[in-house]
Parts: sequence; structure tokens; C-alpha cells
Amino acid sequence: MSRVLRSHLRDAIAKLLLVVRATEPACRLRGRLPIITFHRVLPEEERRAYAMPGLAVTPSELEWLLCFFGKSFHCGTLADSVRRAREEPAADRPSLAITFDDGQVDNWCHAKPVLDRIGMKASFFVPVESVESGVPLWHDRIAQAVARASARYPSEAARFAREFAPADRAMKPAPHDLVAFAKGLRAEERDRYVERWEELAGDGLRPDWDGFMSWEQLRSLSDSGHEIGSHSMSHAILPLCSSEEIVREVGESRRVLESHLDTSIGSFCYPNGDWDARCIEAVHDSGYQQAVVTAWGDNPARVEKDDRFRLRRFDMQSDHSRDARGNLSRARLAWRISGFHPGLGS
Ligand SMILES: [Zn+2]
Repeated sequence: MSRVLRSHLRDAIAKLLLVVRATEPACRLRGRLPIITFHRVLPEEERRAYAMPGLAVTPSELEWLLCFFGKSFHCGTLADSVRRAREEPAADRPSLAITFDDGQVDNWCHAKPVLDRIGMKASFFVPVESVESGVPLWHDRIAQAVARASARYPSEAARFAREFAPADRAMKPAPHDLVAFAKGLRAEERDRYVERWEELAGDGLRPDWDGFMSWEQLRSLSDSGHEIGSHSMSHAILPLCSSEEIVREVGESRRVLESHLDTSIGSFCYPNGDWDARCIEAVHDSGYQQAVVTAWGDNPARVEKDDRFRLRRFDMQSDHSRDARGNLSRARLAWRISGFHPGLGS
């Protein structure tokens, strides 16, 4: 069956499943706690210029997605949603938490106005050292350098990508693939890898939409009812860190955020969603109430013990909610998050 035909068939199945309420979100997820994830929010032209467009939604896509969830759920911050789900696990309108990772300034410019307009609060996870230094996160540095190097020096970039790849992998200079590869490197190795790509790529103008929210902006979000959570100090892949480094990344980031924002910080987000038993212990011992991972899925409304420190999320990529004609589709998204025959839903 052709791809196009398969896509139209999925549309028909998705509509049917929604009509018979098999994938109706509030029914399907009653007694559960879904959490949705966004990263960047960029207007279309800026998203096209960004080397990792899969990490961005446009403001209008964000609004469509939030309105979709607002019809079926009581939407709010992670802390409020965890609390409400625990207190009212069988509510007709289940709680749903809205989260934004990485603290990018586009969240302030483009997500906040949408949230204000539709009256929703969200949680923003902030990598503390990036707010203080303004230096882009390492995955953005690699992605932008690879994109620049590939455009300027395609054959050198192809050779460079192969040179550092494991022997069994045919690595192309594609930003997404090389970021995935770099995630497996220890911090010092990864820093060298980033620097080598930046040397090859040469200087590039940093677009004015790139950067992090300031302490003033974060404080304003916090004061107006949004939640600020920790996304570690340096966006480190925590299971690759020593136990001392984990304690610092988790505990120190909470202390810095609390001192700048003058409020208690209750939520933590593991960079790249990677965690191990040492991370859970550090998150617990540092005084957090809950923590999120990136594994796809929802959670019981009443999370037990350590499970509140590894809450699953639904990553929101607008491409995954589009029908065969490319339009955003309620039926497609409802199917995708329903867990109903997940292999056919995307
Ligand atoms: Zn992140």
C-alpha cells in the first residue's frame, strides 16, 4: 500500500475511533495524569532557520494544541496537576500538565502570549548555567555548527562526521543524527566534539531569536502563577556524571533558582530524559516533589513512591498530529495519545 493511501486510511480509522469515543481523550485518560512537552516556540520563518526544527512548534500550532487539550482536561503547571490528580483521581476533566524544556527566550516571546490569551499556566524547566552565561545548550551548538559546516564545506563536513563515528555506523553530517551520537559522549569528550565542529564551521551570526530567558522574565512568569522548575545546572546527561556531579547538578540548581525567584522549587526535569537510581536519590534528597523524563506515556493519577520522580510525558511535535492533507487533526492527536494500537497511530 502506498504511503499516501496508508495515511488516508489512518485518517479514516482515527475519525472512526474518535466518533465511537475509543480515543476520546477525557475518557481514555480518566484516572491518569498526562503531561505534555514543548521545547521551542518559533514563528515559521525562524523554525525554518533552526537546525533542529522537530524541537519547535509555531505559536499557532501551540495554540491549536493547547485548545485541543483544554477541551478535555484541566490544564496547568506540573506541581498543580500532580496535586490535583492525587486529590481528585477520578475527575471528569482529568488534570494535564503543560511543560516547556530548556528556558529559551522564545518561550517568553511566543508561548507566554498564547498561554495568557487562553488562560493557562505552565511549567518551564530551566538549565541554570545557560541563564547565567547565555551560552547555547550543547545540542544547539552542535546542530547549528553541523548545519553551517555542511552548507559551507560539504565534503569536509561529511569526512568529519565519518571520522568520529563508531566503526559500525555510517554517519552523515545531519544535525539530528550527530546530536544523538554526541549524547553518548562523556562531558569533556562532548565539549571537544562541539568545539571541533565549531572550528570547522567557522563563525556564524547568532540569530536574535536565540537565547535564554532572563532572571527578570523567569521571575515575572513565576509571579504570575507559572511554575519554574530545574533542568539541572549544565544540561548534563546525568547518568554519565559522577555521583558528586549529579548532586551538584540537581541540588545546586534548586538553590540558585530559589534564591533568584524567591519561591520554593518543586519540580525537576532530567536533561535528555536520562536518569538512573543515583539521580532519583539526588532529586528526592534535594527536596523536589516530582520529576519528569522524556519517555512517551502517561502516568497513574495517584503516583506511588519513586514513580513521582520519573513521570512520563507526551512530546508535542506538530507533524505527528497532522492528517494526510497536512492539516492538524483532532482525531489523529487523540489516537496518538490514547495508547490505542500505538503502532498504527503516528
Ligand atoms: Zn533539555
